[in-house]
Amino acid sequence: MTKVFIGVAWPYANGVIHLGHLAGSLLPPDIFRRYNLLKGNEVMMVSGSDQHGTPITLSAEKQGVSPEEVAERFHIINKKAIEDMGIDFSLFTKTHNPHHVEVVHDIFNVLRSKGLLYTKQTMQYFCGHCDRFLPDRYVEGKCPKCGCPNARADQCDECGTTFEVGDLEEGVCIHCQGCPDIRETEHFFLKLSEFQDRLLRYLEHKDGWRPSVKSFTKNWLEGGLKDRPITRDMDWGIPVPLPGWDGKVIYVWFEAVIGYLAASKEYSKQIGKPQLWEQYWKDDDSRHYYFLGKDNIPFHSIIWPAILMGYGGLHLPDEIPANEYLTTKGGKLSKSRGTSIDLQSVLQEYHPDLIRYYLSINMPDHRDSEFSWSDFMTKVNNELVAELGNYYHRVLSFTRKNYGSIPPASVEVMKPVREEIARFSEETACLLGECDFKKALKSVMELARFGNRYFDSVKPWALLKEDRDACGAVLHANLEIVRALAIISHPFLPFSSQTIWEDLGFEGKVLDAGWDGFKRPLPNGQALRDPIPVFRKVDISEDESADLGFSEFRRLELRVGEILSVCDHPDADKLYVMTLDTGEERQVVAGLKSHYTPEQLQGKKVVVVCNLKPAKLRGVESKGMVLAADDEKLGGDSVRLLIPSADLANGSKVDCGMDVNGGKLDYKDFQKVDMKVYNISEGQEELAGVRIDKQSTDAAVVLVKDEGRAVILRSGDVAITVDGALRDGAMVR
Ligand SMILES: [Zn+2]
Ligand SMILES: [Zn+2]
Repeated sequence: MTKVFIGVAWPYANGVIHLGHLAGSLLPPDIFRRYNLLKGNEVMMVSGSDQHGTPITLSAEKQGVSPEEVAERFHIINKKAIEDMGIDFSLFTKTHNPHHVEVVHDIFNVLRSKGLLYTKQTMQYFCGHCDRFLPDRYVEGKCPKCGCPNARADQCDECGTTFEVGDLEEGVCIHCQGCPDIRETEHFFLKLSEFQDRLLRYLEHKDGWRPSVKSFTKNWLEGGLKDRPITRDMDWGIPVPLPGWDGKVIYVWFEAVIGYLAASKEYSKQIGKPQLWEQYWKDDDSRHYYFLGKDNIPFHSIIWPAILMGYGGLHLPDEIPANEYLTTKGGKLSKSRGTSIDLQSVLQEYHPDLIRYYLSINMPDHRDSEFSWSDFMTKVNNELVAELGNYYHRVLSFTRKNYGSIPPASVEVMKPVREEIARFSEETACLLGECDFKKALKSVMELARFGNRYFDSVKPWALLKEDRDACGAVLHANLEIVRALAIISHPFLPFSSQTIWEDLGFEGKVLDAGWDGFKRPLPNGQALRDPIPVFRKVDISEDESADLGFSEFRRLELRVGEILSVCDHPDADKLYVMTLDTGEERQVVAGLKSHYTPEQLQGKKVVVVCNLKPAKLRGVESKGMVLAADDEKLGGDSVRLLIPSADLANGSKVDCGMDVNGGKLDYKDFQKVDMKVYNISEGQEELAGVRIDKQSTDAAVVLVKDEGRAVILRSGDVAITVDGALRDGAMVR
């Protein structure tokens, strides 16, 4: 029995976890953990929310709440999504937590006492008006290289140049727009240069590391390690444990990795075995695995080992099976680019095993892999449902219907079948042990294919009429394949494997059966449960609201229109009659009277449906419709007009960057379109390549639902937003 420690990169608590996180760093360790438990190993798997740092303070300031509130909100949301996905941590904790602070301070003090930390004066931006030092993200200005006007103090996102303090031209404080000066400030540095040789020797024994991890680490080392500042001028974070260091905190890159040790200690305390962590961290025979996305490699292959070496006596990382990226249409799935698909909304529509299956069979373990909903559907329907699910169901339902319980075996029939089961089980185990998850799942699916072929070849439906005992014997053999599949698919598909386990009449957890559980004789006469198919085909067209809505959306002709004049409807209290310029003049009747005065509307640029069939509203002709959103169904009471987030010419086409089919549309067709308004937070301005004018703060975007994902309503690269506050999910009508 081996002790296996699994560390999982800490998700940042300034947004929701998406499918990229799941495929990159969260799902692989859970597969590995379940495999190790089946093998009888002891596992401690920890992670938590990374809650400090400037993205969180920026979000908090923008929303007018405390950083703690933002960090706590996303910690709770993400922890729930992780649990719902069946990812079971020993402990999923957070960095804003006294246990974590205590361990970070201990490491800080020990490194300092060993002379591995030292202080140095550095230069930093200081805003005299705000009376504070400004972290890099708080200063914006002109890039000296490409002239981009909103480069950050440390980097230009446009051309990728990185800067030293003072490089940026025309830098301003993002709070007060004042001009900051540059002042001296004192910081602690980690003597990373001291670890160069030890890290090179450590790396020599890592032949089995994935090539990307090895080469990434080598490149860093060959460039020569530089000492790095581990403190910064900020209030939100872990304080420096020394007097006179107020207003400075420990950098996230230094403290977050310490979370692995801190969480191990916290977990040990929680379960009443406060020394348990030592069995993992102080024992040479334990094995330490770290799962993360490739952008996190050097922090786990260089920084964290250096901190551990400096502290002394603790186990270094053995394996770092970092994954590549899950991409969509060639780009990385990412929160900041708006191409993410958050777990909670996916879980609302699909069983977690379907998502786990697709992300495992399509895992970006050795190279980037492409995510698409149509591929998701194909693989779920043609592989998971048609092969594994179908095999489970035909065996279980046929046996249950004709025998009710497990019929007796025949040695002769069993021998070749058991050999096949053993072969696939060994192959799968070997691949799982090497963290080769995609191939391991393919091997599981091969056993399901073998099962289907075997079932077809023995024709139980024909045999039943000729020889009931012989039929029972081949069904017994099939049930053994089903049991083996329930066990070896468990790391990937924990929910369905447990259901099948119970369908076979077993009590308890499949996890307790052990990897070699298939070797025990299947108990003759054990009653079978009436099975229900464990996987259901994914059929997007079944979901009328999503699919129909989108095809209707494609028929909408939307244009930017300027309101030229507004007058009261002669016969209706709530209606205005308006003239608009949508490239041509048109008259539109709109029910906006309880929400806008004519003065507020005059001259406003709005979004107009131009190809609705003309209608008479209380006797006045309306040629089109002005789009607005309301949040009444969400408990709000606002109606707000859709507007472009930057100035656009009258008549500009509004779409989602796709062709419009045109034709005339009925209002009832329009009602099938699913368009909703969502508020966006800091760091999400560049959603899917759409520009949102930063002046229109509280920016919201209009999302149109497309096959389970959402696309942004826009005109060219200008997003459509609303002209006032609305609750998330407000409906456009
Ligand atoms: Zn630049
Ligand atoms: Zn300022």
